[in-house]
Amino acid sequence: MSDSPLIHLGSLLRSSEDAHASGELDHLNYEQGNQTLTLTFTEPAPYEINVNPLGGNELYLQGSFEPTVTMECARCLRDVEVPLELKLGTLMRYEPSADAPYLEEAETGEEVLVFGDPNLDLSGYLAETTLLASPLSVLHAPDCKGLCQVCGHDLNDGPCEHMAAVPVEEIDDELGIPLGASHARQTPFAGLRDLDLPEE
Ligand SMILES: [Zn+2]
Ligand SMILES: [Zn+2]
Repeated sequence: MSDSPLIHLGSLLRSSEDAHASGELDHLNYEQGNQTLTLTFTEPAPYEINVNPLGGNELYLQGSFEPTVTMECARCLRDVEVPLELKLGTLMRYEPSADAPYLEEAETGEEVLVFGDPNLDLSGYLAETTLLASPLSVLHAPDCKGLCQVCGHDLNDGPCEHMAAVPVEEIDDELGIPLGASHARQTPFAGLRDLDLPEE
């Protein structure tokens, strides 16, 4: 298992041969702003990459990447494994003056991977592709019951005392939160301080 996915494009740039790289990754380090962040995969993520010359400084990258990322269930916060099957297809441009590789949007709206070092590190490209393809939120099961808004009990493990006393619909009504305001409901304790709970 290699630390970062490298593809050597030197001979491609000199003699227009195709270039190929493959392997498995258990994590990717990538830059965002001035920070180095790490994207960790649940299991080794296989990748296959081919780069073909298009003439001039332009190239085309094709391949596949199959990372499994761990996300939190949006309702009960337990870990959920999310397997992704990514088809890669990206225009590339060699610009010797470019420091680190970066993605640029072409006039056509297509993304172009610009790079300056023929010994190209694909970490940033694969990390960004993975993050863009990840769902914004997931549920560990379609019928996840979530957490009790009063005590935080995981209602998938069975009801707690508050379920009988304060139906979820009633909490929403008293707080004036429109039903479907999922963000407010996902924050279990927000705004509940002043709620007048019935005594036991
Ligand atoms: Zn859940
Ligand atoms: Zn409760």
